[in-house]
Amino acid sequence: MDKIIIGADIGGTTVKIGFINNEGEILKKWEIPTNKSNGGVSIIDDLWQSIRIQLTALNLTTDMVLGIGVGAPGFIDGDTGFVYEAVNIGWKNFELAAQLKDKSGLPVFVENDANIAVLGENWKGAGNQARNVIAITLGTGVGGGIIANGEILNGENGMAGEIGHTTIDPHGHLCNCGRSGCLETIASATGIARQAMDKLQNNSISRLSTHYQQTGTVSAKDVFDLAKSGDTDCKHIIHDTADALGLFIANMGTIINPSKVLIGGGVSKAGDQLLDEIKNAFHKYALPRVSDICEMKIARLGNDAGIIGGAFFVRQKLLDITF
Ligand code: ZN
Repeated sequence: MDKIIIGADIGGTTVKIGFINNEGEILKKWEIPTNKSNGGVSIIDDLWQSIRIQLTALNLTTDMVLGIGVGAPGFIDGDTGFVYEAVNIGWKNFELAAQLKDKSGLPVFVENDANIAVLGENWKGAGNQARNVIAITLGTGVGGGIIANGEILNGENGMAGEIGHTTIDPHGHLCNCGRSGCLETIASATGIARQAMDKLQNNSISRLSTHYQQTGTVSAKDVFDLAKSGDTDCKHIIHDTADALGLFIANMGTIINPSKVLIGGGVSKAGDQLLDEIKNAFHKYALPRVSDICEMKIARLGNDAGIIGGAFFVRQKLLDITF
């Protein structure tokens, strides 16, 4: 029997864990709460205890495990599994890979969670094992990951692929990073909702203003729903958001020259309503040789991308497999 691989995706609320086979199929998956107390000191212990219980339940021993691949938020050295900083968790200068390796006796590899998710999505999801991929996650913030020549693009200190902080408008809204007009201030769920609040300043009567008067709130999903029902302001917001993304992808395209662009995260649930507009903007701005070869798709794996990507990362490190 082929060895199984363990994937773990450490998030601010839960740690998702899975046993994955060599074909990338999930044999078992579950999750445990992330215990962030005392700077997250017990998280690795909790993770390994939980894995041990599930291994025993399935009559598996550690010699049947190839290794553990972990995705975690923050700035991480993918070669050593050292976490410089994970603000959401409370870790600073934390030897994640070394600690889990000590406890488990297994090979352990750690990467940034967004990068790991791209590996999963490219292995078993919408990527179809492309060698050059840009993945963009449109959630509360904007995250991303890049696969270049078959491997995660990491950079000198783990910053490569932090695409949410690409400057789109130097005079734009203030970003969480302290600078102005980052992609995240426009294309995240928060950014889209904020654009709607800006439109409400015009005091014009619209479906959007009626919705706001009735509910006292407006979300990114509301913007897409209102656009569908004909609201002009919301149509403009989606157009402007897609235009910023299309321009960004066109510029990135001259650097990475991808065959796949994968759009994921909560905002991507809008599907073709968003994707078609991003495609239009991309084709408008990109060099034809860049856009002609590039397919743009919505990510498919959702929350499973992390554990599947963790397993792929182990295969890549130990078996020298790339896309
Ligand atoms: Zn920023």
